[in-house]
Amino acid sequence: MNLFRLIIIALAVWIAYRIWQNYRSKAKKMTSSSKSQKNIPDMVACYVCKMHIPENEALRKGKKVYCSQQHLDADNES
Ligand SMILES: [Zn+2]
Repeated sequence: MNLFRLIIIALAVWIAYRIWQNYRSKAKKMTSSSKSQKNIPDMVACYVCKMHIPENEALRKGKKVYCSQQHLDADNES
C-alpha cells in the first residue's frame, strides 16, 4: 500500500512539474510582448502576515499596508 501511494505521489509531482513547465513556456511568450509589463503591479508585504500582495489590492493605514481588513483590525487592536 505504501509503494502504491509513493507511485501516486511521484506521478502527481511529475504532472505538476509538466504543468509548471507548460505554464513557464507560456509566461515566457507573454513577457516578450510589450503589453504584459503593465499587468504586473508592484508587490507589497502585509504588515501582519508578511504575505506579498499586489499594491492595488492592499489596504493602507498610514505607512503600513495590510492584505485584508482582518489584519488591519488585528494590528489596530494590539
Ligand atoms: Zn496579512
